[in-house]
Amino acid sequence: MDSQRHIARHVVDLPKSGIRDFFEIVAKMKDVISLGIGEPDFGTPWHIREAAIYALEKGKTHYTSNLGLIELRRGICSYVERHYGIGYRPEDEVIVTVGVSEAIDLALRALLNPGEAVLYHQPCYVSYHPGVTLAHGVAIAVPTRAEDGFALNAEDLERAWRPGCKVLMMNLPCNPTGGTCDRARLEKIARFAVEKDLVVLSDEIYSELVYEQAHTSIAVLPGMRERTIFLHGFSKAFAMTGFRIGYACGPAELVEAMMKVHQYSMLCAPILSQEAAIEALARGEDSMKAMREQYQKRRDLVVRRFNAAGLKCHLPGGAFYAFPSVAGTGLSEREFAYGLLDAEKVAVVPGTAFGESGAGFVRASFATGYEQLIEACDRIDRYVQGLRR
Ligand code: PLP
Repeated sequence: MDSQRHIARHVVDLPKSGIRDFFEIVAKMKDVISLGIGEPDFGTPWHIREAAIYALEKGKTHYTSNLGLIELRRGICSYVERHYGIGYRPEDEVIVTVGVSEAIDLALRALLNPGEAVLYHQPCYVSYHPGVTLAHGVAIAVPTRAEDGFALNAEDLERAWRPGCKVLMMNLPCNPTGGTCDRARLEKIARFAVEKDLVVLSDEIYSELVYEQAHTSIAVLPGMRERTIFLHGFSKAFAMTGFRIGYACGPAELVEAMMKVHQYSMLCAPILSQEAAIEALARGEDSMKAMREQYQKRRDLVVRRFNAAGLKCHLPGGAFYAFPSVAGTGLSEREFAYGLLDAEKVAVVPGTAFGESGAGFVRASFATGYEQLIEACDRIDRYVQGLRR
């Protein structure tokens, strides 16, 4: 059988992740300090793990409602109200998902007819463009820039817009740039979304990890609650990546549409993870704040050291990634990343893994212990100085 011939055209055409080969090399090497990973180095706080263990002991091993346990949905609504100032009904305006990953997929599949377009900013999380393609949509990238702190601009969105655009997908604070958006800019983006009648998928997975400026969700701005799907989860702020648990909040009709896709694909999120998430929301905020403090110290260290080494790096307002420019070295982002790995055994991700607008940059995660980061910075410094000789 010619297997290739049986694979759907849009899947055949989907490019493999640009960094897969690179990280296969990293995995085979010894003593590498990896700044490539997009997940907290902290273990999940113990009381959250225990909640999952107790749930297992109590025999909680069954399916839940498709929307998720009502206790969890209540917890999510009160958390979102407290932190973001948006009120949702636990009964029909929240759906618990298998991570934000599933929530993005559900939203795109529920909203897009074939050929409809999604505006998204670039550089961005690796799954955005493929996610749109898999939902038979057309992805339109809107570049963001280092000199602007990688904030998203309504003017750039206006320029990229064309008839057939139905959705704006955004992620603030942003992976990989750490870019955030102040309220004034966000208001302009909200006005643009209303004017063009867009549904906004707002991925706020890093929103607890902001450092100077308070986070504002676009969903609280005038006219936005009715057109925003607020996507959030437990992976980053509560260090729960392996639990695979997230959620989406939005108008009941949109949540209902997502629920239809979810019930025929995933059915429900794992019950043990849902139990752990209830605990995270009830008692996890102190641990979350302690982790944020550590990230901030690490951010200040790496940004200072990158700039001192001659790699121009803006101060990321949120998330746990630095996104320095390597243009001054005369190398491309790929040459820099491979060269650094080879010479000094430090792994960073070439910026183009996050879209063409990442050319000339690399992503360095600071979700790594402080001492390791100091060592990584020493090695990077040595590598960059070596290039100058
Ligand atoms: N959205 C962004 C911007 C991310 O960076 C990630 C993970 O790195 C995800 C979504 C996926 O998160 P989850 O673990 O909740 O599926």
